[in-house]
Amino acid sequence: MFDSLSSKLTGAFSTLRSRGKITSSDIDATCSDIRAALLESDVALTVIEPFIETIREKSLAALPTLQSGTNQAQAIFEIVSAELVEILGGAARRVRFAKNPPTVIMLAGLQGAGKTTLAGKLAKFYADQGNTPLLVASDLQRPNAVNQLQIVGESVGVPVFAPEPGNGVGNPVKVAEQSLAYAKSKLYNMVIVDTAGRLGVDAELMQQAIDIRNAVKPDEILFVVDAMMGQDAVRTAKAFEDGVGFDGVVLTKLDGDARGGAALSIAKLTGKPIMFSSTGEKLTDFDIFYPDRMASRILGMGDVATLAEQAKKAFDGDATAKLEEKFARGDDFTLSDFLEQLEAMSKMGSMSKLLGMLPGAGAMKKQIENFDESEIIRTKSIVQSMTPLEREDPKVLNGSRRARIALGAGRKVQDVNSLVDKFTAAQKMMRQMRKGGGMPPAMAQSMGMPAGMGAGIGGHQHGAQKGQQPAKKKSKSGNPAKRAAQEQG
Ligand code: GDP
Repeated sequence: MFDSLSSKLTGAFSTLRSRGKITSSDIDATCSDIRAALLESDVALTVIEPFIETIREKSLAALPTLQSGTNQAQAIFEIVSAELVEILGGAARRVRFAKNPPTVIMLAGLQGAGKTTLAGKLAKFYADQGNTPLLVASDLQRPNAVNQLQIVGESVGVPVFAPEPGNGVGNPVKVAEQSLAYAKSKLYNMVIVDTAGRLGVDAELMQQAIDIRNAVKPDEILFVVDAMMGQDAVRTAKAFEDGVGFDGVVLTKLDGDARGGAALSIAKLTGKPIMFSSTGEKLTDFDIFYPDRMASRILGMGDVATLAEQAKKAFDGDATAKLEEKFARGDDFTLSDFLEQLEAMSKMGSMSKLLGMLPGAGAMKKQIENFDESEIIRTKSIVQSMTPLEREDPKVLNGSRRARIALGAGRKVQDVNSLVDKFTAAQKMMRQMRKGGGMPPAMAQSMGMPAGMGAGIGGHQHGAQKGQQPAKKKSKSGNPAKRAAQEQG
């Protein structure tokens, strides 16, 4: 997501940070680097010019108030960051719910923008929060659109109002109108209307959107736009703004990179907030758009807030509390705890997307892209092939046990050895950290970096490390549960 823009801006700041004392000509140079980076990413010139001017003025004003070059560079970075947040729309805005349900959300945009996919994503998002959405198939134009919405609805468990077959048959305005009465009678509290697009803006399309708007009086009209369209995204946004009008923008296909910068201009140029972003074809590849988090990503600072939120969602509160208690008691982190974490991580979605949210991810782009998503599944299968005793106390893992585990997991003995070695290292680290924070050991481990971030993401050197059993004496655990497991094993 905005990788090339991000790496250019990061480069501009590292040059600035290398200056001993920052002068006005350094500011000029940085401004021109930022300008070039934004231009290259296709951000609209009318947005860039005032942005650069503001940065220049504010930076020049800040210079004399600060002594060291480091502080000056940081102050300039913060100025750029704040201005970027401003361009992206300032504060995040949520959907306004109607006082009298149902809340009506109408999706508008060109064909292929991702409206139907988004309808499913929105339905899932709001259903997960306890709402009862109804999807409405008012795209009767695009071949297969009705059927696609039905499939999407089914996969997220949300009903679809589709009285017409589509493919050019049926009146989309009537469908939208009828859906409201239907939603009221069935007590759905939200109606999401999918509408038809065209390959380009045309009068007929706009009139249909206007008619649907007038028929259902939406609480929110969301303009859905493919961020990969380049400057056309801006032109289309303006055409929809002048035609049907809209309340908020949804950027789709932010998982791509090329020319995505144009989409960043939309909030500023239309004065309408970007409310959601879509980052892939899967129904979970979707989130609220937070201008500050996006600015942080663009500036190479990652998106730790989203990462933390996703982790919180995936890591069950009770299990986490139990783990914390365990550490507080001084008990060891075991492979059973590790397995629980791996399972939670699988719920968090694509690892490369998660890793992409870490600060400095831009510099590790290659490794992140090459991250082998199935590594977690393979690691899980190894731990799952262990007995409870082995999970509690990997020291019992002799050669024959390792061979049995490898066979059960369909892996090589070297893979088992490698996992046990990494786990032992992580366990050691956990002992040292104890109450310290940091990323879940499972995450660090599955990335092949037991001792912190630097060890190379995706560097799964199968068989590279020879598993060695530390020849330590076996002691009985002080923990009753653990002791019982030992005795059983
Ligand atoms: P509509 O014509 O506006 O309803 O567009 P669709 O919802 O049918 O989407 C068009 C294509 O884009 C489909 O193949 C979707 O799977 C794909 N798509 C939608 N959103 C995204 C996204 O965020 N990222 C990617 N990579 N593809 C997307």
